[in-house]
Amino acid sequence: MQYDIIIVGGSYAGLSAGLALGRARKRTLIIDAGRRRNRFAHTAHGFLGQDGRAPGEIARIGRAEVAAYPTVSFLDGTAATAARDGDGFAVTLEGGATHTAARLILAVGVIDDLPDLPGLREGWGKGIVHCPYCHGYEVADRRLGVLALMPLATHQANMLPDWGPTTFLTNGVVHLTASERDALVARGVAIEEEAVAEILNAGDGLAGVRLVDGRTVALDALFTGIPTRLASPLAAQLGCAIDDMMGGPIIRVDVMGQTTVPGVYAAGDATAMMKSLPGAVASGYFVGAVAHQSLIPPAH
Ligand SMILES: Cc1cc2nc3c(=O)[nH]c(=O)nc-3n(C[C@H](O)[C@H](O)[C@H](O)COP(=O)(O)OP(=O)(O)OC[C@H]3O[C@@H](n4cnc5c(N)ncnc54)[C@H](O)[C@@H]3O)c2cc1C
Repeated sequence: MQYDIIIVGGSYAGLSAGLALGRARKRTLIIDAGRRRNRFAHTAHGFLGQDGRAPGEIARIGRAEVAAYPTVSFLDGTAATAARDGDGFAVTLEGGATHTAARLILAVGVIDDLPDLPGLREGWGKGIVHCPYCHGYEVADRRLGVLALMPLATHQANMLPDWGPTTFLTNGVVHLTASERDALVARGVAIEEEAVAEILNAGDGLAGVRLVDGRTVALDALFTGIPTRLASPLAAQLGCAIDDMMGGPIIRVDVMGQTTVPGVYAAGDATAMMKSLPGAVASGYFVGAVAHQSLIPPAH
């Protein structure tokens, strides 16, 4: 079937774009592989009106709301390829089926590239989290750690004392200058320079970390920024420009949410330096509306 718009990615950004398009009565197909980035967490915070709700529940409610619009269809699966097809685009699924549309919205999100550090995968989204705005309040005044997996960790270590007593595990990744060290100490941050050998989880929480020299550091929560990569190669296949940012690559979009390929729009984590659920919802809705208006011939 020929659609007006295909949205690849049916999580917060994709659903929000679908909501705008369903309300504009456009024939919209949302293709989703069902691997939301925050599926490891029990609760999501910072999204006004839904603060503290389970991430899966927010997505479930969102999908039900969008599904109520009769011009929107859903397809559970993975879009393997996308390419220009005449004036529009063709998207082919892993199973081989191809769908076409006049416009394409990429809301594919990113993948956190977790390194092979023992205990990290098991604790991810539980005792180990990436964002103090998302999960800091719940562990306020407890023993907090910041694990350096990339240089940006120094910034996080400097922020975290606003939530509680902080130990910065530089882990052989960050080499502090004298002035950085002084600034962190002035913020009350304890600095541990031995590399981390293992994260010690305790059920759904954290016990601490074991260092390479065998010592342990007792902690109640660990914050760590993880390098990310785009969750799908579709943007690259289409020839969209991709920018390498400090945390990982993002799809380049202009102020209207359009990529460098006319007719291809993008939203959510895949386009954002500071990634968040409310940011994904906001950019998705905006891009949905912009993509709709791009289908209307100008009045002049
Ligand atoms: C552990 C953890 C906890 C978090 N907690 C919070 C929080 O409390 N508050 C907050 O604001 N943010 C939180 N975040 C960040 C939040 O998860 C993201 O900002 C948000 O999920 C971005 O939404 P999105 O729609 O852009 O991408 P995602 O939610 O990652 O969804 C992308 C969707 O696209 C699909 N997809 C990708 N490629 C394809 C393809 N080729 N074909 C079909 N489908 C595809 C994926 O399967 C997925 O369903 C957390 C992140 C993590 C890792």
